[in-house]
This record gives sequence, C-alpha cells and structure tokens, in this order.
Amino acid sequence: MKLNRQTVKNKLVFLGTAGARYAAFGLIRQAGGIWINIEGTDIHIDPGPGALIYSHKKGLNSHWLSYLIISHRHLDHCADINHMIEAITLGGKRKKGVLLCPEDAISEDPVVLEYTRNNLEKTVIIEEGLEIPFENGKIRFPIKHIHGVDTFGVIVENRKEQISIGYVADTRYFDKLIEAYQNSTILIINTTLKNPKPSIPHLSVPDAEKLIKEIKPELAILTHFGRTMVSNKPWEIAKTISDKTGTKTVAAWDNMIVDAKSRKVIKQKR
Ligand SMILES: [Zn+2]
Repeated sequence: MKLNRQTVKNKLVFLGTAGARYAAFGLIRQAGGIWINIEGTDIHIDPGPGALIYSHKKGLNSHWLSYLIISHRHLDHCADINHMIEAITLGGKRKKGVLLCPEDAISEDPVVLEYTRNNLEKTVIIEEGLEIPFENGKIRFPIKHIHGVDTFGVIVENRKEQISIGYVADTRYFDKLIEAYQNSTILIINTTLKNPKPSIPHLSVPDAEKLIKEIKPELAILTHFGRTMVSNKPWEIAKTISDKTGTKTVAAWDNMIVDAKSRKVIKQKR
C-alpha cells in the first residue's frame, strides 16, 4: 500500500524494524527508521540505511519532511541522514528542515556532513528535557538513555488529538524510563534482545514487558529486532506480552502502517 500527501496524515510508517549490526547490515530486515505524520507535519526518526529508498517506495516524498531526528550516532539509526537532508533541501537549493540530534553526531567524526547540514534551516542539539513545539504539536526528549554514545528517546505529541507517541530508542533498562514515557498512547520499544545480556546495552523482551506493564499505553509496538529476535517469531512474543499485560502489543514488520489516532495497525499487503 502506497501512501500520499492525504493518506499519510496521522500515520506512523515503520520503514525498518532491524536492530543492531547483523539484522540491519545483513539486510535481514530493513532499517529505514520511522516516519511519523502529525496533523500534516512530517517527521523522520532514525533514518538508517535505505531510509530514502524505503520511504520513496511507500510513496513518501522526503521533500515533505520538516524534522529529522537522530536518536544516536550508530549507523543503523542514521546511515541515510545525509541523503535525507539532500532530499529535503533539494540538494541545497532551498533552506528547509530542522535536524535534531545529539552533540556527538555532529562534533568529532560527525555522521552528518557539514555541507549538507548547512543547507538546513537549523540544527538543534538534543539535551534531556528539550521540547520543540511545532504547528501541530510538540517533540520532546524526556530522558537521556544509557547506550554508550549520547542517546535520547523521543515523544511526539498532539494533546488536542490525544496523540502521544513514545519512542524508547536503544538503551540499557533503567527504572526512570517508566516515568519518562508515562502517558504515551502508543509506545514504540526498541526490543533488540530476546534475553537480557548485561554486557549489551539494549532492551530485551522482559524489559519491554515491564515497560508496557507499568506505562500501560493503548498500543505497544516492538521493533528494532536483533537477529535472535527475528528468528524467534517476534509476533508470537508480542502476543504473549499482550496476554500477560492486557495491553495490545504488536511486533512491527517492515512497512507496517499504524494510525496514530485510532491506535490501529492498518491491514495491508506488505
Ligand atoms: Zn545503537
């Protein structure tokens, strides 16, 4: 199913569901990040490898984007950032778009090239608690994560329409996440690991279950799967979490579309 300027309204499009190096760079699944439209404003979070192509294939025109967000500088979250900036700015022909990223994405050994970045309207460095109001809502960064590099999750919200999309980006589990993402109507959790591995700062299935149980969103979405997750039928894992927590939980698939207002996954051919 292809989207257009009208049908993209208030949709979330999962342009990738792969997490970490084997799944993302072994192309076990796509890793193009998440496109979110809130009442007509387009936001792309974590444009990993292939983001430009995968969005184009879904009918999403990168020229529409107003905000590009990088949760952290790992390449499965930002490999296509320069391509996306070129698309938004028509190769530097027009000043458009705002980049929100951690400081270490643009300082030493930057993942965003200076020459593409200079064509944007502006770049804003993410800090814990940062809020960016826009015409149709607000983008918030409620808490700094624990992930080895500067990492921040995101909340995109429109209170009037009762939309609050929490994106729990890569992180080690810690209890403060619960408070940070409270009141999310849709909670997206980067669930890279099936079982907790203390040496790897990623969330696992039991961590995701705990967050869902405590935060109680109307819809929980697991994504950013490592290869063990992919081979263990994440849709069955999601079903088990739904049964245990009473919160509808789905495992995202590549190109899945969700309606932000009804919190429903739109049935579609892949
Ligand atoms: Zn990462």
